[in-house]
Order: sequence, then C-alpha cells, then structure tokens
Amino acid sequence: MRVVHVAAEALPFVKVGGLADVLGSLPQALALEGVEAAVLLPRYRAIEPPLEPLGEVAYRFAGAAQKARVWGAEAGGVTYRFLEVDPDWAEPYTPPEAERYLRFALAAAAWLEGERYDLLHAHDWHAAFAVRLARRPTVFTIHNLAFQGELEPAEFERLAGAAPDAELLHEGRVNLMKGALLAADRVTTVSPRYAREIQTPEYGMGLDGVLRSVAGKLSGILNGLDTAYWNPATDRFLPQKYDARHLERKRRNRATLLATLRLDPGLPAVGAVTRLTWQKGFDLVLEALPQVLDLGVNFVLLGTGEAELEAGFAAMARRYPRRVAFIGAFDEARAHRIYGGADFFLMPSRYEPCGLAQMIAMRYGTPPIARATGGLADTVEDGVTGVLFEEASPRGVLEGVRRMLELDPEPLARAGMARDFSWGPRARAYRELYEETLP
Ligand code: ADP
Repeated sequence: MRVVHVAAEALPFVKVGGLADVLGSLPQALALEGVEAAVLLPRYRAIEPPLEPLGEVAYRFAGAAQKARVWGAEAGGVTYRFLEVDPDWAEPYTPPEAERYLRFALAAAAWLEGERYDLLHAHDWHAAFAVRLARRPTVFTIHNLAFQGELEPAEFERLAGAAPDAELLHEGRVNLMKGALLAADRVTTVSPRYAREIQTPEYGMGLDGVLRSVAGKLSGILNGLDTAYWNPATDRFLPQKYDARHLERKRRNRATLLATLRLDPGLPAVGAVTRLTWQKGFDLVLEALPQVLDLGVNFVLLGTGEAELEAGFAAMARRYPRRVAFIGAFDEARAHRIYGGADFFLMPSRYEPCGLAQMIAMRYGTPPIARATGGLADTVEDGVTGVLFEEASPRGVLEGVRRMLELDPEPLARAGMARDFSWGPRARAYRELYEETLP
C-alpha cells in the first residue's frame, strides 16, 4: 500500500509546531507496518538544499497556466517531495496564507495525477483542498480545528477558476476545512476523546454541526512519541540518566535543576513546558500561583507566547525568587531537564487535541497534573499515572496540585514509565483505517 501524506510542515525539513513532529515520525512508523509513505510539502525558501531537482508539474491557478518546480529528498527511509509554487514563500503560515495553500493544493492534485498511489492522507486545512481533487480514497486528519482556511467566495473563484460549491461554503465564506470534512472517506483527529468533544459547540470552533453530520466516518487516533529521542535512559541533556528501577538518580536531576534556578532545595518542583496561549490555560495558573506555592512546592515554567503571560510569570519569579522560576525561551535542553528533573508536570489546557508534553512527562517518571480534556484525558489515568482535574479555573488547578500532593508519587512515576507511548500501536490503527478505506 502506498500512501501520500500532504501537509504544511514536517521534520526534519521545516517545523513550527507539533504537526511537524507527526509528519516526521508517523511515515516511518507506517513503513514498519508495511505502508509505503511519501510526504508532499510546499517548498518554502527556509527548506535548505540539498534537494534533488525532479522537473516540473503543470497546473492552473488564478486563470493562468502555471508550473511548479518539484524537489525531492529522502529521510529515515521516507520519500519527501516539495512543490515550489511561489519562490517568494519563505516559511509556513506567512500571508497570503489561504491563497498560497490553495495554490499548493491545486499543484499537489496535478502532481498526484502522475503518481502511483493508493490513498491520500491530508493533514489540516492547508492540505484540505487536495482531498476534494483526489481521484483515490482519502483520509483527512484534524490536528488543529482553530484554523480552517477561509476565503471570500469571489476570491476563491478568481484563484481556483470555479465558483465554490455548497459543500465548501460555511456562513457565507469558503471554508477549506469544511470542504475536506465532507469530501474525505474518513476523518480523524488526534485522540478519541477530542473526536467526541469537537462535535459539541464548546469545542467545535463553529464546525460542530458539520462534524456531527460526519460522525459516522470520524474517529480519533492518538499521536505517538518518538520514544528513541524521548528516553530518560539515554537523554544526553540530562545530568543523570535513569530508568524506572533507578528513580533515585532522577532526584539528582531535581537537585541540579533547583540549584541552577536557585529554588528551595527542600521542596518538590512542579514543572511546565508550553506555549503560553489561551489554549494552554496558564492564565489560570498565574492566578492560582500564590495559593499553589502555599501548598509547599516550587514552580518552574519554560515557555513563550502572549506578552501578558510572560510578564505575569516574570513578575511572579521576582516576587518569589526562591520558589518560582520563569524561563521565557524556546530551549530544547532545558525542556529535557524539566521533564527529567521536576516532580510533577502541569498541563491545565482548556482544550488539547492530543498533547505530547504529558506523554513525555510520564515517560520521564514525572506524573502530570492535567485537565481532563481531549488527549490529556485519554493518556493520563487519574490516580494511576497522574492526576486529572475537571475545572478550567484557578480553583481547578489548585485542587489538581493539592490532590497530587496527597498521593505517593513513586508508584505513579513507575506506572507512567511503564506505559507505551510509541507510534507502534497508533501506526497500526492508521494502517487498519487505510485498509477499511481502500476498495
Ligand atoms: P502543542 O503542539 O500544542 O504546542 P504539545 O504538547 O503537543 O503541544 O507539544 C509541545 C512540544 O513542544 C513538546 O515537545 C514540548 O516539550 C515542546 N515545547 C513547548 N514549548 C517549549 C519551549 N519553550 N522550549 C522547548 N520545548 C518546548
């Protein structure tokens, strides 16, 4: 079986967020399942040579015949192809975004005409229009429902060369995500619980009605972790490597972490590694923090994002220099030292399609304190591998930490470390889904 993935980003070529991690590891995991995978991306200027020139593909866009240069590369046994539709396109998600990805999808459809493949797997709205043009079975995966790819109908008609049909229209605008939800043979998102949640107005981002109408073909498959990279027994960023039988070594990592940050060495550390956005719920943490500290913990936060939140946590670190550390940076090494040194990991998301950080934390023996939503609820077992709290509020956060402190952390750490977060079973679920889709 040969599957072509179409997406906006993929490691090791270009990464903005978690989508790149998935496209950089799922195809390799699928290969172990006997599924031959290729990945098709836009050629951004940020993608550095060496890329192999593979000719051109002709397509129509904005009322004219166009040619996209095709580039190729191999990584981890997977074939990558890049379509250069706009030589000025520097990196993902730069405007005019909808126009550029629509153009990419039109070129992708033309390129696919000349390819031998069995199934198209498109990811998020950037690849959505390719689903409508494909002549083979299709799977569409929602990684982030917040971005749907919207255009004015007249603009769409000018670029695509045809008026949008009814399936593409949502509240008077072209909505590329909606078009793919209706056209795809199967729709997935990145956890079973989120697949149910997005059918409700609370989580549906305006598309809950559409998602309910396709409920029969909608399912959730969790993302996997790259468990070779995220492994406390081999992690080169950790002062002390450890496994579940040597948790005392992890305590040395805590001592180093707390000493480096000049925090109270006699208290446990609640850690967090996150984007600071509304989704992640750290405004709730900021409000609850003085009371959380009263429970007798340190708090270590590594994160960047909204200026107000960054300023708020910086102020907290000044107010409680021995108890709160805020590192306002994107820093891979420090992230590893928090996963491998903190006692607990805080993740109070308002919504979470899947979430990788909580799985990393469990793999590192750092029980998560997480909100019972989306992929968090599907991966953290309350009272067994971590603590789940219901309420997205400062009180919810405080109760979560309080409950965690009442538990014996070692059995939770061991239980989390024993869980399988690898791609293996999840890639198998995709293969089975593909097989159901094929004629
Ligand atoms: P999302 O993709 O919504 O940001 P995930 O939990 O799925 O959330 O993945 C976040 C990933 O990004 C994790 O691997 C986490 O360690 C990493 N990360 C987030 N913020 C930082 C940061 N400031 N420094 C280093 N790594 C970070």
